[in-house]
Amino acid sequence: MSELIREKLSLPNGHDKLLLHSCCAPCSGEVMEAIQASGIEYTIFFYNPNIHPQKEYTLRKEENMRFAEQHGIPFIDADYDTDNWFERARGMENEPERGIRCTMCFDMRFERTALYAFEHGFSAISSSLGISRWKDMKQINGCGERAAAPYPGMVYWDYNWRKKGGSARMIEISKRERFYQQEYCGCVYSLRDSNLHRKAQGRDLIKLGVKYYGDEDDE
Ligand code: SF4
Repeated sequence: MSELIREKLSLPNGHDKLLLHSCCAPCSGEVMEAIQASGIEYTIFFYNPNIHPQKEYTLRKEENMRFAEQHGIPFIDADYDTDNWFERARGMENEPERGIRCTMCFDMRFERTALYAFEHGFSAISSSLGISRWKDMKQINGCGERAAAPYPGMVYWDYNWRKKGGSARMIEISKRERFYQQEYCGCVYSLRDSNLHRKAQGRDLIKLGVKYYGDEDDE
């Protein structure tokens, strides 16, 4: 296994205990290893009621749990309160990715992360969400900052996980670990839209639970 080279990170303003929201193992693999290599104390918070269907949710969560366990990192398995998610998404079913439905979705996940952090003595929050090149970092950071704001002394850490080789290491770790490779963002609407796009291109529709990082290297 090659040694990954990274800069040493530190939490902003002398904060020392981080609650890291994680969306999935591929996105959080590099984020977790970078934080750990810097000696920052952290816990994973898995709260993603957007992921649909439950089979996909369970696949993504269990992959992430296994990786956290391997690294000796505490993993908080939060609610899968899909009713709340659908309630908040009502009227936004046909919004495009990076639009207002996604702002709602990030807000919801960050709000719960910040509340848990406040109730359990964490003074900093962040998320693996921003490492994906499909996401709008500005949108994600706005949601993170909004969620932390009501709690005195709490900070949202807006570190750009993509930079200084982060994106390449994300792929390297995903292949090394042979993580499950999801093929849509997560919600039922992103699954629908990804399939519509594939259909228009004459490609096969998404099959859940079949694609793993590194498989193509074996062919
Ligand atoms: S596309 Fe992704 S970020 Fe946007 S609402 Fe769906 S799951 Fe959430």
